Amino acid sequence: MLALFLSALAMTVIVGVRYLLTSGAFAWATSRKFPQRLVGQRAQVRREIGWSLASAAIYGVPAGVVAWAWQQRGWTRIYMGARDYPLWWLPLSVLAFLLAHDTWFYWTHRWMHRPTPFRIAHAVHHASKPPTAWAAMSFHPWEALTGAVVIPLLVFVIPIHVAALGVVLAVMTVMGVTNHMGWEMFPLMLVHGKAGQWLITASHHELHHQRYRCNYGLYFRFWDRLCGTDSGLGEFAAAGAVRGGSRCIGRGNGAALNAERQPDGQRGGAARP
Ligand SMILES: [Zn+2]
Ligand SMILES: [Zn+2]
Repeated sequence: MLALFLSALAMTVIVGVRYLLTSGAFAWATSRKFPQRLVGQRAQVRREIGWSLASAAIYGVPAGVVAWAWQQRGWTRIYMGARDYPLWWLPLSVLAFLLAHDTWFYWTHRWMHRPTPFRIAHAVHHASKPPTAWAAMSFHPWEALTGAVVIPLLVFVIPIHVAALGVVLAVMTVMGVTNHMGWEMFPLMLVHGKAGQWLITASHHELHHQRYRCNYGLYFRFWDRLCGTDSGLGEFAAAGAVRGGSRCIGRGNGAALNAERQPDGQRGGAARP
């Protein structure tokens, strides 16, 4: 029992430190690249860090249980030998985890935009206007719980090499931070190219934070496209969010940010679902 407790504690610290380092690094990059970007957002950033550190504990406990089950009991399907499964399974397992996580996220996220769960939980995430790199884990504990169980459950079902799992966690961490930082770090060629039609980067998620009722996905645009909730790429509203001398503008509907025209009831106030 002590081993389980220590494992949960260690993972909580690791998740918290990982958040502080990653969000801190991208927030620093933001302030260097766009000095105006974080001006006047001190109070919001403090709130984002507070909620995110609380989320770290909620993410850390199931992660700690997995680490314990893996190391002490051998219950998970995490493997160490590179040849325990065919080599082609390495990239495929990463894709399988990302697709499963994306699917879970899309549907729980859509559900959380229903009035009651929005008011109780998801409003916390949308209180960031516009979000910053610190908002990566800025969730109400109920929402953090829905996100924290996915990967820990998947490792009991889908075999994955420990290094491939590291890749999944790295993608999850970096995309969670960069999708909120208010500027696009990926080349515009990628974002506006064929890959960008299917992959989610900051330009896509920014529009979700502006319009609420669209662009619910996490990594891929598949579910948004299939369900008719994809509104294309957004425009970064914050002053100074320019890149390479030109505005970071998607070719989607980002310019049409007139909240008055949005049909949903979730605009204009985080606690107004
Ligand atoms: Zn978000
Ligand atoms: Zn949302």
